[in-house]
Amino acid sequence: MQHNVDIVIVGGGMAGGMLAAALAEHSLRILLVDAAAPPTMPQGAADLRISALTESSENLLRHTGVWPLMPTARLQPYNSMDVRDGDGTGEVQFSSEAVGVDHIGTLVENQVVAAALYQRCDDASQVVWRNHCRVENIVRGAEGWQVTLGDGETVCARLLVGADGARSLVRGAAELTTAGRDTGHVAIVATLNTEHPHQQCARQGFLDSGPFALLPLFGDGHQCSLVWSAWPTLADELMQLNDADFSARLTQASQEWLGEITLASERLAFPIQDLHAGDYVTDGLALIGDAAHVIHPLAGQGINLGLLDAAVLAEEIERALLAGRDWSALPVLQRYQRRRRGHNATMVSAMRAFKVLFEQRAPLIRFVRNSGMNLVNRHGLLKAAMVRQALGRNDDLPKKAML
Ligand SMILES: Cc1cc2nc3c(=O)[nH]c(=O)nc-3n(C[C@H](O)[C@H](O)[C@H](O)COP(=O)(O)OP(=O)(O)OC[C@H]3O[C@@H](n4cnc5c(N)ncnc54)[C@H](O)[C@@H]3O)c2cc1C
Repeated sequence: MQHNVDIVIVGGGMAGGMLAAALAEHSLRILLVDAAAPPTMPQGAADLRISALTESSENLLRHTGVWPLMPTARLQPYNSMDVRDGDGTGEVQFSSEAVGVDHIGTLVENQVVAAALYQRCDDASQVVWRNHCRVENIVRGAEGWQVTLGDGETVCARLLVGADGARSLVRGAAELTTAGRDTGHVAIVATLNTEHPHQQCARQGFLDSGPFALLPLFGDGHQCSLVWSAWPTLADELMQLNDADFSARLTQASQEWLGEITLASERLAFPIQDLHAGDYVTDGLALIGDAAHVIHPLAGQGINLGLLDAAVLAEEIERALLAGRDWSALPVLQRYQRRRRGHNATMVSAMRAFKVLFEQRAPLIRFVRNSGMNLVNRHGLLKAAMVRQALGRNDDLPKKAML
């Protein structure tokens, strides 16, 4: 059986869900397909996949009616950041007060965002969200892109959107090439109990072996989410330690930043990729989120960039619709690419440079780097500029990200 829709979105992660939610008020018939089960709102202990959402992401989610669907009790705003070198000789502290805002960002479980997006789309009659539904094949036909689903059904769309993550099938089918390299890093994530309260501060330390982050979690003020990036041999070793030894190792590596640390969950390990598509668009097709770019999680920016991609693509489609133009035409998609690729490229390059800088063992480079951190720490204007960056403010935000 074959049927036609206006837009097929492959992937119901946060980027795909955001695009569907942002277009939900229009007359376009949207089919979102995802191979996984429908996202459900987590209960009880925190899920292990956490993201730090910027002010821009919060605005986007608010103005698409998604934020109110996220339970306040599971959100943890943070109002300061503390970045330290592993030597303990360089430190920068940032605070939301520097730019007169209440908080810099919000720590939230990915599952909470995904479940709220799902609920928002469930209320929209124009959006059909199908789970347990894998796209098996994609070809370009006379009527547009034709997608074959796992049950053999085919769907034709005027616009096909790849929101299907780092190993995007859509990107491959469209022969959109990527540049990137293996970061060689593996990220270990877990939930921790800490002796000292986190005080709504996101902490990041740079060890020779890679960065670690202690991110404040909702609850009694003594729980943090860990993201510890390390070379594979060290990551393997850390994954094999028993809970008590892992906790002791982390307490020591963090120089007792939050006192004694105790593991409060299982550990998960993710290989860290680094890639960027040369083009995000071609005739009748666009990539958003990790399908277009994957960056090191050390700056906590991946999904913030993905949400902005979705919002800008929705804004360009909306602009063409309101002007009575062909909303799926290549120039519309190219406008989306122009607005997003440069911004994402800057972030990808910054993360690569940051990682290299903090891996240096040469004493002179370390001295200059750490002196630089201390200099930044004493320079109010520089720090305010960096907080604005962390808030996700840039020159070409979609309207909904600014309100
Ligand atoms: C350890 C770690 C920590 C991170 N921390 C942060 C952070 O603090 N802040 C931040 O902004 N980012 C962070 N990130 C990055 C962030 O998690 C990703 O950028 C984000 O999850 C990508 O979302 P997405 O929707 O683009 O892709 P995904 O989440 O990968 O979703 C892709 C979806 O596509 C579906 N799919 C794939 N193939 C098919 C197919 N053939 N058919 C149907 N469905 C398909 C999958 O089921 C999946 O649901 C972190 C990443 C890691 C690894």
